[in-house]
Amino acid sequence: MELLDTAVVPEHAHELKREAREFAEAHIAPNAAEHYESGAYPWEILEQAMDVGLVAQDIGEEYGGSGWDLHQILAVAEEFYRADAGIALTLQLASFGTAIVEEYGSETQKETYLRPVAENEQISGLAVSEPETGSDLAGMETTAEKDGDEWVLNGEKYWVGNGVEADWVTLYAKTGDDETNRYGNFSMFIVPTDTEGYDAEHVPEKMGFRASKQAHIELNDARLPEENLIGTEGAGFYMLAEFFNYGRIVVGGHGIGLAAAAIEEAAEFVHGRRAFGRNVSEFQAVQHILADMVTEFHAARTLNWQAADRVADNDAAGHWAAMAKVKSTETATACAERGMQLHGGRSVLTENRIARVYRDVRVPVIYEGANEIQRNLIYNQARW
Ligand SMILES: Cc1cc2nc3c(=O)[nH]c(=O)nc-3n(C[C@H](O)[C@H](O)[C@H](O)COP(=O)(O)OP(=O)(O)OC[C@H]3O[C@@H](n4cnc5c(N)ncnc54)[C@H](O)[C@@H]3O)c2cc1C
Repeated sequence: MELLDTAVVPEHAHELKREAREFAEAHIAPNAAEHYESGAYPWEILEQAMDVGLVAQDIGEEYGGSGWDLHQILAVAEEFYRADAGIALTLQLASFGTAIVEEYGSETQKETYLRPVAENEQISGLAVSEPETGSDLAGMETTAEKDGDEWVLNGEKYWVGNGVEADWVTLYAKTGDDETNRYGNFSMFIVPTDTEGYDAEHVPEKMGFRASKQAHIELNDARLPEENLIGTEGAGFYMLAEFFNYGRIVVGGHGIGLAAAAIEEAAEFVHGRRAFGRNVSEFQAVQHILADMVTEFHAARTLNWQAADRVADNDAAGHWAAMAKVKSTETATACAERGMQLHGGRSVLTENRIARVYRDVRVPVIYEGANEIQRNLIYNQARW
């Protein structure tokens, strides 16, 4: 059964989707179990993906990228995540945060920072979350204070993908203290990771997404030239809100890829496993579970692709992006849970793909804004 068919995918993304499938089958899927066990950063696979033009190509052509649009990024996400979430996240995060520089940065910033990422000489990251704050974007405590013609950064960031490996990160910091304008107190900065006062180490080992690496960053009087501010001072919250609308469509794709993996694994298992003198797939109760899984999958996927259109058209983007993220990532958790049950005792063998998927699906319901926050957005941004 082809779950990730092209029926809902616009034609301009078909060729890229085919290339992503080919790459995922040749390089991601065969290495997934090994990376899961070792938890090693998949440098080799990242470089192979760079060689075939599948990394950081969301950056525009004028800065050396391929200018992939949201639909193309989503198509790649579905394929990569079906093969393995941890490796997929590493490949997709190589240009994380660059969209903010591309949208709001100066020409000099774009030439200096975007081009090396697009040309796969550097990788980036996005540093927003903190040890004490994740969901409350207006409650972050890392500060950036102006001192002459420099910004001085102090504070901590947590969970930052590539925070150790990246050459630079787009970082969110507090630049104001206006109680009456809570959302206007934050700004975005380009922070090279070799800046004095920037120290990063990996967060402890995770149970899922093991081939991706996140960092705990400490900023102690890290000084940046004033030109490293991105766009307007005080506009950081709004920049992020827009950025996350796009990101949540792609995270929906993470859920879709994982859900597809769970359904494939479950279907294959029950069609080969025998009990009571017949294939397990012959029990109607089992067939109904698979029927529900595939129905939910297509409902989520259709919503996700429709939401991609809405976000691309800036039509109630926040509302649709949040719905897509909730539905697709929770379809993944539901499919993984059912897939585990259908595997019986073998479900808990860590060497089995279903056990990997089961652990990975815990993450997209959290990152890019926990689903509870998404529900707040769905309600608050609806035109009731
Ligand atoms: C593998 C991984 C990769 C990540 N990558 C990055 C990255 O590259 N860059 C980055 O900046 N961050 C990253 N994150 C961080 C992620 O975005 C945060 O974990 C997420 O936003 C939730 O924040 P928190 O963990 O601090 O949870 P908290 O904010 O402490 O919330 C805990 C829980 O409380 C509940 N909750 C909180 N607020 C509300 C509310 N208003 N209403 C109802 N319920 C609520 C929710 O259930 C929530 O899950 C990553 C996280 C993971 C796990």
